[in-house]
Amino acid sequence: MSIFKTVSKEEEDVQRHLDEVFSKIQTRDPHEKEFHQAVLTFFKSIKPTLVKNPTYLEHQILERLTEPERAITFRVPWVDDNGKVQINRGFRVQFNSAIGPYKGGLRFHPTVNMSIVKFLAFQQTFKNALTGQPIGGGKGGSDFDPKGKSDGEIMRFCQSFMTELVNYIGPHTDVPAGDIGVGAREIGYLFGQYKRLRGSFEAGVLTGKGIGYGGSLGRKEATGYGTVYFVQEMLKNEGHQLAGSKVVVSGSGNVSIYAMEKAIELGATVVACSDSDGYVYDEAGINLDTVKQLKEVECRRISDYVDSHPSATYVEDCTGLWSIPCDIALPCATQNEIDEAAAKQLVKNGVKVVAEGANMPSTPDAAEIFQEQDILFAPAMAVNAGGVAVSSLEMAQNSTFSSWSFQEVDEKLHEIMKNIYQSCIEAAEAHGEPGNFSVGATIAGFTKVADAMIAQGAV
Ligand code: GLU
Repeated sequence: MSIFKTVSKEEEDVQRHLDEVFSKIQTRDPHEKEFHQAVLTFFKSIKPTLVKNPTYLEHQILERLTEPERAITFRVPWVDDNGKVQINRGFRVQFNSAIGPYKGGLRFHPTVNMSIVKFLAFQQTFKNALTGQPIGGGKGGSDFDPKGKSDGEIMRFCQSFMTELVNYIGPHTDVPAGDIGVGAREIGYLFGQYKRLRGSFEAGVLTGKGIGYGGSLGRKEATGYGTVYFVQEMLKNEGHQLAGSKVVVSGSGNVSIYAMEKAIELGATVVACSDSDGYVYDEAGINLDTVKQLKEVECRRISDYVDSHPSATYVEDCTGLWSIPCDIALPCATQNEIDEAAAKQLVKNGVKVVAEGANMPSTPDAAEIFQEQDILFAPAMAVNAGGVAVSSLEMAQNSTFSSWSFQEVDEKLHEIMKNIYQSCIEAAEAHGEPGNFSVGATIAGFTKVADAMIAQGAV
């Protein structure tokens, strides 16, 4: 039985093709659950454009798009502070280079495996296309857990990781950046080792660098600010505004912190945020200086927030966060953090907007609930594209030996987010799904990549 709903003859043909390709993907790599999830969501969203443009099927575009151009795994040996050798696994998936060099972050987290890296690299391809910047899609990382490691251990791990990765990357080939567990400190160590091994200063090989050695002002803030700029556009279109709204943000890493900062700046009250152990609820509004001090400076847990804010509550259950009533929910932590039950709870409590700052934070069931209930729901591919967009601006500055002001970068980011919003709206409308941001974002990204692939032949 087909996994997709059918209507016309053309739709039936497309559906059969989608079913076949999906089944092959499942059979080939049966363990890659997250990758299957991303592909299935993608197939559902692009269906209307395949029905309209059957030529994509003739070019075997779906088979080609779902197979990475290259996927590398490698051993990462490093020595811990006790002199013991530790072994981790490193990954880099170079998914698609049709419109530019592979581009996408590195994630260091114990859950990282080939399925996770493939789903991230796959989605990155369309997200990057949507930014309007000339960047392909890639992603990498390791199952290394940075939690509790000393600075020296982090440095030695990064150096060993780069000693292998150096063979596959370059400013015109593949340009990694940060993601969960990889921030400015790690990028610094990775860049230092790359420079040493190559014997040349190639600033454009990594983005998210420190400002003193080729980093871009505004990169740190970009994903979070971009998320809120996107929400602003969604609200504006409905005649609403952010000021006065109640916001819940999951996570307390780079994306969350700067999403909270921009939301607060625009007059919203952020009442809760979290980490992987639990969440804090502060009815008066989360004090962002405290969160920044705890997370960016002292690397402590969010539970310590209540030490300096006794009126706030800490609850040791990070998914319980979604039962807090709010107008706007910004999942900015990790994949599949909003499941069906959490989505129902959010809807019951009257949520109006759900915008994905993290990559694939809503399970397919959760996403379906938001869409059925007419919640303004926007997928990561569009919402969190501001980070990689500013990474591309960092590459542009590096290649011209220039550095732009914070304001210049922020204005460009704002413009890019408005354009992404517009592309989503237009693509969704053109395909008979007005207001469906998942369909709009996916089709807009897909069209760009698929057309470039067709123009370049079977490579
Ligand atoms: N990891 C971020 C993302 O998911 C940023 C990637 C980049 O800047 O290359 O888009």
